Amino acid sequence: MLSYRELLKRTKDEIAEVDTRAAREMTDALFVDVREHDEWEEGHITGAVHVPRGNLESRIEGVAGDRSASLVLYCASGARSAFAAKTLAELGYTNVVSLAGGFADWKRNGYEVQLPKMLTPDKRARYSRHVAIPEIGEEGQLRLLDSRVLLLGAGGLGSPASLYLAAAGVGHIGIIDADIVDESNLQRQIAHSLNTLGTPKVDSAKQTIEALNPDVEVTTYRERLTSENIERILADGWQIIVDGTDNFPTRYLVNDASVWHGIPVVHGSIYRFEGQVTVFKPGDGPCYRCLYPAPPPPELAPSCAEGGVLGVLPGIVGTLQTNEALKLALEIGDPLVGRLLLFDALATDFHEVRIKRNPDCPVCGEHPTITEYVDYVEFCTR
Ligand SMILES: [Zn+2]
Repeated sequence: MLSYRELLKRTKDEIAEVDTRAAREMTDALFVDVREHDEWEEGHITGAVHVPRGNLESRIEGVAGDRSASLVLYCASGARSAFAAKTLAELGYTNVVSLAGGFADWKRNGYEVQLPKMLTPDKRARYSRHVAIPEIGEEGQLRLLDSRVLLLGAGGLGSPASLYLAAAGVGHIGIIDADIVDESNLQRQIAHSLNTLGTPKVDSAKQTIEALNPDVEVTTYRERLTSENIERILADGWQIIVDGTDNFPTRYLVNDASVWHGIPVVHGSIYRFEGQVTVFKPGDGPCYRCLYPAPPPPELAPSCAEGGVLGVLPGIVGTLQTNEALKLALEIGDPLVGRLLLFDALATDFHEVRIKRNPDCPVCGEHPTITEYVDYVEFCTR
């Protein structure tokens, strides 16, 4: 019967070992961390992949399908990785070495390690009600702080959305709006106030967000979205779009861009006492053109001047949009994909209509006919 020491020694004789300095020169090799999950979480070699030794046989092919690939296995001190190297040799891997001294030695030499990202005590306090939810936790909050959400419009829908996204700690918020704050906005556009009357809405909203949460970086675009600027704006890396616009040209532009770039759009619209919300997630449900392939002729569209709205309605719809955006950012729950949620404020009634992807859709269908941006004549949806 062999003792552990004897077994380790015999195993080490059968495999190849490298010291940390030699391993560091192996820039083409894949580093495989065979430690346990919590050890990996506390820090690991930069660029390494994690395959705990207990799952080595079943998972190694997923990270290194090629059995002649150069692999450097490591654990804490070089023992577990030695046994792992022997296992891989038995599986037919021909170019495997074990890191002598392991992660401990690597760190001691001051080589590159990736330390865990953690919330600072300030942030842990600020977001404690998120951290307390198992579905979010510290990891989810870090994810929100890393996420990038673009708001179209800093008006009725964009105002509550911007405030709640900022409060939630969405780290990067972009706002597109060309308008100036007007007195008639204040009945519902809560990101603005008497103090910012006459100033650009993007600046007013930015000021409000920064006063609420300095963790948020705000990028402002004081312009109207057009086929000319949409690519430049999306090049800033926005991951989710919250659409609070009220006109057809923008709605179609955003739809087409989102399909081509694979960016989900949280759509909202309001009129008098009625609101609608849905999520257009490319590849996973219908797009706006699946429902409305092209805008109606201008003479059939209601004029902008007629539009009235109950002041709180955009608050309700805009916060529902924010709820969807946060779920998308966190990848939790069931987003409103393929579901159009209708709200009637007078009846206080929500109901849902299923909406389907149209295989003949001119943009996301099987044979798309629209492949570049179309600028429609501007008119209001309602
Ligand atoms: Zn479509």
